[in-house]
Amino acid sequence: MSKKEELIYDGKVKSVFATENPQEVIIKFRDDMTAGDGEKKEVMDNKGSLNAVISSILFKVLEDNGIATQFIELIKPDEILSKRLEMIPIEVIVRNIATGSLVRKYPIEDGIKLNPPIIQMDFKNDKFHDPMLNDSIIKSLGIANQEEIDILKYRAFKINDILKEFFDKIGIILVDFKIEFGKDNKGNIILGDEISPDSCRLWDKETLEMLDKELFREGKYDKVMTAYGEVYKRIIGE
Ligand code: 5GP
Repeated sequence: MSKKEELIYDGKVKSVFATENPQEVIIKFRDDMTAGDGEKKEVMDNKGSLNAVISSILFKVLEDNGIATQFIELIKPDEILSKRLEMIPIEVIVRNIATGSLVRKYPIEDGIKLNPPIIQMDFKNDKFHDPMLNDSIIKSLGIANQEEIDILKYRAFKINDILKEFFDKIGIILVDFKIEFGKDNKGNIILGDEISPDSCRLWDKETLEMLDKELFREGKYDKVMTAYGEVYKRIIGE
């Protein structure tokens, strides 16, 4: 059993610890919840473990469909043993339905289906409010080369296809989501971070009710954990 050693990274909602194996880390999902680049902050009991379990199951689904992920094992309800990656500071966002920042920035009607889905890359940087990137900016800033950018895009679309189908079977529409990738010690690009109701917009297929962090962004604090619990129950097949 891997032992937690020193803290190597403390994010807004997750903490990463070294282990005795230099190629592995333990990611602890905390109960903290933030929005607006960390400006809004609350503690939501049990959120860490719900998200850790949901993310573990989704990463396992992706692995079973040929996507390399950093997931190794859920070792505690809120802790995942993971491959150590050097993270690429890009938030890769895929959108199947127009909403959120897309409809605030572009003349697109809220709620319309996007066919083909939109892919967007944002620079992970709170100080600059995660500005949108394009291939040219990514290359000029030295974040990734063209071959790596192409891998990120291709991989993100494949992940979208797999997850859209997975969620559809449990009565959920995958509206949009954000993923992050990193490189292992051999330079392979691997899916990292998490996929959970914190990083996706998920709507109930029948009622179109929100089942994700948007409730928190809108200040509906009393509804957040019920929604996350519903996603959890459907994912584990309860
Ligand atoms: P939007 O750009 O519309 O605010 O977000 C698009 C999708 O990406 C949503 O599913 C949202 O949850 C996710 N997303 C975008 N930026 C972030 C971020 O900084 N953190 C998290 N957890 N998710 C994000």
